[in-house]
Amino acid sequence: MEQKTEKILVTGAGGFIGHHLVRYLKRKGYWVRGADIKYPEFSPRDEADEFLLLDLRDFRNCLEAVKGMDKVYQLAADMGGIGFITRVKADVVRNNILINTNMAEASMFAGIKRLFFSSSACIYPAYKQRDPKVAPLKESDAYPAECEDGYGWEKLISERMYTNFYEDHGLDVRIARYHNIFGPEGTYQGGREKAPSALSRKVAQAKNPGEIEIWGDGKQTRSFLYVDDCVEGSWRLVESDFREPLNIGSDRLVTIDELADMIIKTSGKGIVKRYNLSAPQGVRGRNSDNTLCKKILGWEPKIPLEEGIEKTYKWVEKVACQ
Ligand code: NAD
Repeated sequence: MEQKTEKILVTGAGGFIGHHLVRYLKRKGYWVRGADIKYPEFSPRDEADEFLLLDLRDFRNCLEAVKGMDKVYQLAADMGGIGFITRVKADVVRNNILINTNMAEASMFAGIKRLFFSSSACIYPAYKQRDPKVAPLKESDAYPAECEDGYGWEKLISERMYTNFYEDHGLDVRIARYHNIFGPEGTYQGGREKAPSALSRKVAQAKNPGEIEIWGDGKQTRSFLYVDDCVEGSWRLVESDFREPLNIGSDRLVTIDELADMIIKTSGKGIVKRYNLSAPQGVRGRNSDNTLCKKILGWEPKIPLEEGIEKTYKWVEKVACQ
């Protein structure tokens, strides 16, 4: 492996995508510092060369985190699945605005060469996502804006703010819009989990034969990107010269029913689905248009959904049924 000279900070390194990213960057030969308000739950903290336990809502902590670094991957955020972000809005917006404004300013002061920001498909307008057979969302669909209330609006404001830091202060930014990232070693219980991990947990813990609850009527659609593709796409974007927001997602649209059936099949159990129509379900349909991603990065996600789901289910089954 070629040893790289650049030093990288990954914020949110105690979380799901962040610690996968630390592992990926270490394999690429970088020196990596992780920072988070908590240590990684499911992997050793010494996967990073250094791990700083810091609350990044505090500006002084952001200065400490960026000190001596060349590049920053800013993934720290107060976030969760649809149940969490529709219930908790004020704290999410407040905490994430503090983290992002402080990280932008600290990175500028420290002369950081490049900063990556993990935005979200939740910035896309509700009026484009009312049909399960949704047209894939292009980056230019973001405006006029009608974001997911709370979490989505903060992401769009922060996209704009990072861009303004480039325009006014020369902070070189890269912005990814992630679409439903999933994989092993992510939150699978406690209220912040997202659909693939939540469904995997429900199936793993169900009796055989048994039953699981699906949020909504199961006909809502999404695309899901496996975490290994997510971290590779993020690195490729950082190494590119593209400064506009870019989708990092899969363009394979499935219904939540199809996703649940895939997980049930992987488990080998006899499970029936019961629908809870009063549970939160988010937009009716959402898919990623990857035309620009392919053009800019010369790359597209590779890992089939079935393969990612099998790895995720096996991991969730192991930790949720101990
Ligand atoms: P995650 O919750 O597992 O990771 C986020 C991390 O940020 C957590 O470890 C958390 O402790 C940390 N954090 C929160 N507040 C902090 C603070 N004040 N100081 C320091 N650290 C703090 O979530 P994830 O799925 O790994 O998401 C990573 C990033 O990608 C987030 O910015 C998220 O908004 C974005 N994103 C994720 C998805 C997805 O599907 N997972 C989709 C779109 C965007």
